[in-house]
Amino acid sequence: MASKRDYYEVLGVQKSASKDELKKAYRKLAVQYHPDKNPGDKAAEEKFKEAAEAYEVLSNDDKRRQYDQFGHAAPGGGAPGGGFSGFTDINDIFEHFGDILGGMGGGRFSGFGGSGRGRGGASRAVRKGSNLRVKVSLTLAEIVQGVEKKLKLKKKITCNTCHGSGAASASDVQTCSHCHGSGYVVQEVNSIFGRMQQQVPCNVCGGDGKVITKKCATCHGEGVVDGEETVSVKIPAGVAEGMQMSIAGKGNAVRGGINGDLLVLIAEEKHPFLEREGNDLVYELEISIPDAVLGATVEIPTVENPVKIKVEEGTQAGKILRLRGKGVPDVNGYGRGDLLVHIQIFIPKNLPKDDKKLFETLAQSEAVKPKKRTSFFDKMKDFF
Ligand SMILES: [Zn+2]
Ligand SMILES: [Zn+2]
Repeated sequence: MASKRDYYEVLGVQKSASKDELKKAYRKLAVQYHPDKNPGDKAAEEKFKEAAEAYEVLSNDDKRRQYDQFGHAAPGGGAPGGGFSGFTDINDIFEHFGDILGGMGGGRFSGFGGSGRGRGGASRAVRKGSNLRVKVSLTLAEIVQGVEKKLKLKKKITCNTCHGSGAASASDVQTCSHCHGSGYVVQEVNSIFGRMQQQVPCNVCGGDGKVITKKCATCHGEGVVDGEETVSVKIPAGVAEGMQMSIAGKGNAVRGGINGDLLVLIAEEKHPFLEREGNDLVYELEISIPDAVLGATVEIPTVENPVKIKVEEGTQAGKILRLRGKGVPDVNGYGRGDLLVHIQIFIPKNLPKDDKKLFETLAQSEAVKPKKRTSFFDKMKDFF
């Protein structure tokens, strides 16, 4: 993750770039590094993915804001696939940006598998199960402390009867005679870059290189069945609403391929008293007039235990007290935010007669009136 380039740098735009500028910059790069134009060029493929990832984040207002704030924040704590989910599969990019990449040899793109592949030239595309998306709501305490969540997931799992082959028995799987087991055939295709040869999946075996002569009775040849899995996800402290963690290989299974990923979207539950502002927490503290004038010790909530703070004699409305380190830890481990106590002074209304008397008496005192120097007219007098 550390070697990740800045998304703005990737797209070659200013931090202030408009949506249109982002789109233009991305389209230019996508054409330049398009796999049709750079067949078998791994470096170009990486650049193509890098640009797509940068655009994916920056074109989304929420993600862009988060990126501006956290950079390549990796809620995965450096685990593989942690942080903002990048694109591991070129097909995902075409699926995702079909509107922008339309007419660029788009649609599903075969012949390019997951990033884990690439053992030279013409290997078969690795099929990948679909990603599983799940939203996890966290309390403020869970966000501050970090939490491990056990998620019960309904998903496609490998069929136990055939162990994922989809065949009734081992002898019911035969090499495809059309592609001779390679899973692909070479075809001439038209693209916006002219006529070129392209490997396309064999339509007889669907790219498997094998055909099943007798299907497994449990999964009807699918190799996968509907099932359930409980997955433990460690969520680091400091995550925020809208952040997404991706856990590789915990998504849906697929016959003859690798599992999709599990995408965990973070949602924040509202705290009854504390408001989050970035890594700081804000508490609105209302004190009485006498407490503001005379000073007092008041108890305020924090994410952990309540603490007592001292309100000084003569505290003004709007004053902010800062409790260092009582906020939210930074998701990248850069310290911890503060708890800001905003002081408001409670002005009572419709007082009973006796209480009103107290204020009327108080009103006689010169000392309670605003100091002369601060009055507007006096300031004007000084001015002229
Ligand atoms: Zn075939
Ligand atoms: Zn089966």
